[in-house]
Amino acid sequence: MPDLPRLSVPELLELDRRHVWHPYGPMPGRAEPLVVESASGVRLRLADGSGELVDGMSSWWSAIHGYNHPVLNEAARGQLERMSHVMFGGLTHEPAVRLAKLLVDMSPEGLEHVFLADSGSVSVEVAVKMCLQYWRSLGRPGKRRMLTWRGGYHGDTWHPMSVCDPEGGMHELWSGALPRQIFADAPPAGYEESYAEHLRELIGEHADELAAVIVEPVVQGAGGMRFHSPAYLRVLREACDAHDVLLVFDEIATGFGRTGALFAADHAAVTPDVMCVGKALTGGYLTMAATLCTARVATGISRGEVPVLAHGPTFMGNPLAAAVACASLELLRGRDWQAEVKRIEAGLTAGLAPAAGLPGVRDVRVLGAIGVVQLDHEIDMAAATRAAVREGVWLRPFRDLVYTMPPYVTSDEDVARIARAVCAAAREG
Ligand SMILES: *Cc1c(COP(=O)(O)O)cnc(C)c1O
Repeated sequence: MPDLPRLSVPELLELDRRHVWHPYGPMPGRAEPLVVESASGVRLRLADGSGELVDGMSSWWSAIHGYNHPVLNEAARGQLERMSHVMFGGLTHEPAVRLAKLLVDMSPEGLEHVFLADSGSVSVEVAVKMCLQYWRSLGRPGKRRMLTWRGGYHGDTWHPMSVCDPEGGMHELWSGALPRQIFADAPPAGYEESYAEHLRELIGEHADELAAVIVEPVVQGAGGMRFHSPAYLRVLREACDAHDVLLVFDEIATGFGRTGALFAADHAAVTPDVMCVGKALTGGYLTMAATLCTARVATGISRGEVPVLAHGPTFMGNPLAAAVACASLELLRGRDWQAEVKRIEAGLTAGLAPAAGLPGVRDVRVLGAIGVVQLDHEIDMAAATRAAVREGVWLRPFRDLVYTMPPYVTSDEDVARIARAVCAAAREG
């Protein structure tokens, strides 16, 4: 911005408060955000001159390789000089085609077709549309409801909201207005046959009106950071097959190694009919998500009365985002991400152990590069954030949860620092 005078931090904060909407925030804003000037590796540099914070959030779980990465920068720069965008209707290009091929190669066997979307929520909208249209094309338009389990989160647009946890979540306000879906109880952490039976019964009972079951496999993220046995994924697969219901895995949070497997579905060796990915897809550089499906779903839709999937965002397949996504996935495949995630898992397990003895702490859990401390009360977000910042770490606690999902490149020393900050936030929040 060469012709504009630079804003001072107080000016910037004042304009921000007056004009800029922040996630899940009121207008004008109440809490004062930190101003970030730049980011490199796992560190965010603050504009007020107070120094750097280790990022324990990977910018909402996306920046798995850290910031300002030379390989991702080069991919963006190279693509920028060719073209940053062209429309995807009637045109195609190498970054999108390569990305689709990479996703098909990496994802569970059987997922063969890729719809590139511009955000996770949109990829879930597309997944729902695919499932409803599949049954409509097969002459069964009555199958148009979704089933999910409680405690989930699938995004903030309309249909994703309808399959988020209907109580206590961010979308409770809309419970009368949203499409009414079918909810199973939240999955227990360990395998319980009675819960598996509950899933089978509910799917069987509603089979005639069900288009699909949609779940976050193994880890429920923004709905409560809960983990569950991968064995439930096989139960869902079998029940869906037995009752002519499609199965959708939302791997937007879990995809690309976060849980210790490349996809959470791999823990159970289950292939869903439709799968959503996003967040870490571009290594946190640009917004992009994808909906993958099997040949059965694509063929079903394409043989219908309306043989097309009527969806086509303006920025579909954006070459810049696709080029960075290709570079990010190649980077992931080329490094020992499994060892990195295991190392972080060990560091978080050791570092968060002291939290279990703190007053007000209900549970401490770690899976892959995810560490969670659950309190027995709603957190004081401002106090918890201050405590983490004092330890030199950026965290964004919510509800009764302090958690971290660090970049995979975080050093042992920085993982230990993040864990100390989580404990401090839990103590003071
Ligand atoms: C973040 C998230 C979404 C929504 O993605 P956006 O890019 O924020 O629209 C959907 N599902 C899951 C599991 C997520 O974690």
